[in-house]
Amino acid sequence: MKTKRLTPRLALIAALFVYGVSIASAQITSIRMSVDASEAPRNILHSKLTIPVRPGPLTLFYPKWIPGEHTPTGPINDLVGFKLSANGKPIAWRRDDVEMFAFHCEIPQGVSELEVSFDDASQPETTASAKLARIKWNRLVVYPQGMNSDAVRVRASLTLPAGWKFASALPVLSENKDGLQFKEVSLTELVDSPAIIGENFRKFALTSTGTAHEIDATADTPAALEMKPETLTGLKNLVQEAYALFGARHYRSYRFLLTLSNHGGSEGLEHHESSEDGVGEKAFTDELELLDFADLMGHEYVHSWNGKYRRPAGLATPDFEQPMKGELLWVYEGLTEYLGRVLPARSGLWSAEDFRETLAAVAAEFEMQSGREWRPLVDTAVAVQWTYSSPRAWMNYRRRVDYYDEGSLIWLEADVLIRQRSGGKLSLDDFCRRFHGGQDTPPAVKPYTFDDVVNTLNEVTPYDWRGFLTERIYQVAPHAPLAGITNGGWKLVYTEKPNTQIRIGDHARKSIDLSYSIGAMLKEDGSVIDVNPNLAAAKAGLAPGMKIILVNGRAWSTDVLHEAIKAAKDSTSPIELVVENGSFTEMYKLNYHGGERYPHLERDPTRPDMIGDVIKARRGTATR
Ligand SMILES: [Zn+2]
Repeated sequence: MKTKRLTPRLALIAALFVYGVSIASAQITSIRMSVDASEAPRNILHSKLTIPVRPGPLTLFYPKWIPGEHTPTGPINDLVGFKLSANGKPIAWRRDDVEMFAFHCEIPQGVSELEVSFDDASQPETTASAKLARIKWNRLVVYPQGMNSDAVRVRASLTLPAGWKFASALPVLSENKDGLQFKEVSLTELVDSPAIIGENFRKFALTSTGTAHEIDATADTPAALEMKPETLTGLKNLVQEAYALFGARHYRSYRFLLTLSNHGGSEGLEHHESSEDGVGEKAFTDELELLDFADLMGHEYVHSWNGKYRRPAGLATPDFEQPMKGELLWVYEGLTEYLGRVLPARSGLWSAEDFRETLAAVAAEFEMQSGREWRPLVDTAVAVQWTYSSPRAWMNYRRRVDYYDEGSLIWLEADVLIRQRSGGKLSLDDFCRRFHGGQDTPPAVKPYTFDDVVNTLNEVTPYDWRGFLTERIYQVAPHAPLAGITNGGWKLVYTEKPNTQIRIGDHARKSIDLSYSIGAMLKEDGSVIDVNPNLAAAKAGLAPGMKIILVNGRAWSTDVLHEAIKAAKDSTSPIELVVENGSFTEMYKLNYHGGERYPHLERDPTRPDMIGDVIKARRGTATR
């Protein structure tokens, strides 16, 4: 996917697509779609489609490659009750032997419209709870195979459970007590414009003039929708900070489609004019969940620019069938991860300390990751079809979707480098303005290549950016890219004080992360989630899947293990662990005497605090 290209500017203009205008009208087909979500709390949605057809063979395709998921994750197993008919008579279908998202049929003479009906039987606790649901149109549609999704027009309607409300970026034609009729849009726009529905609904306006921005939130209980005033202020700031950063917007309006439920599934999926943000019921109130919520809001919002508007050429596919290539996900996700944390810090949703704690956690994770000795970062992106779903066991050795967080460290380093080389006059913000800004536009896709990224960096600050990125991303790199932290005026240190970002992870996973002391992550019940092969727990013999039942002769609890680690610091005796491995038990002796260790950043007074500069608020001061 790393191709030689024309000058970036010409290449970009040639490849600009706006919703639905890239296709000649003769190729267009128009589908009517009627979705009945009245049984959403039972995790079943009913879809009826009317598709114009001609007599002869026809293949219908169920969306397979889902934008933003970068992988063939269309939930084909959830498509049930699939039936075809025309003029009141059933039509037989046969699934393709190899492409299992394709269904072949033969349209009889005299038939001009095909009726398709099926149900979307979603897995419990993934898209719906008893009180809310996310409506993802890609789960509810099939279309003639081979058609560009811009050329498939869809007129959708939606029936809701009695008393439920809805929100979506999809333009509404009419609304009555039974449901909604939407304006006809391309299949591309439809899939990019999901809806949330629910019994308890609340809207928070984030702007009062100009382009509309809002949070549409639905929760399992009305109480979960009580947002603190300072959170709302921070989210309003987030919108202004993003505009100050990018200098332009590429949407007509923007909605955060937020679901708060412990049973409705977690979600974070970007779209041009909205994002699906699925969090826990206590996201507005619990201290750690609120910090994580701000991270999610920042990340998915940045994606409207970095991911939806500017998209790696390998991910800018014409339909939901062509495979996506993930090589440049260190830009798509890595830069988003970076900016998605810079913006909450600039907005006041995070403190400077919260931002630094996250950097420390990420820096430590990658510096202590044994898999980096064999696997270059880019391979975690190239292998994206498997890295999202890769097992948690042996993850430290395997690596997973590291283009997110390790990518963010590389973008921090680039930011600090631009600041240093320009004497503080320029920063990565200038790259973003060139790469993602320009004029305000409706949703559009401007694909890019590796060369386009290098060339734009060089336009901001001449440097060997090709070498910089190649070394850090394409080559095996035994050490994590920490120069953004050290050149930014801070040092990675370890102390006994727990790290905030690690506490967030432990809270969400119900785990205790001791990766930087004994070198293991454990579940609260003592089960081993993962070990670092280079550290004490693995060297003693522990492995993922085992379960600690005794610590120095005492019954397992997280407190007992914490106390044993503290006590071992002043002792030469090993920590004795009795561990279950299947139906057998064995004693392991842990030779670890370093005490509790958690990563933090400590100020280096010999250098200017550039990380402080990175997170300074810009709203109101930025000029175009
Ligand atoms: Zn993302």
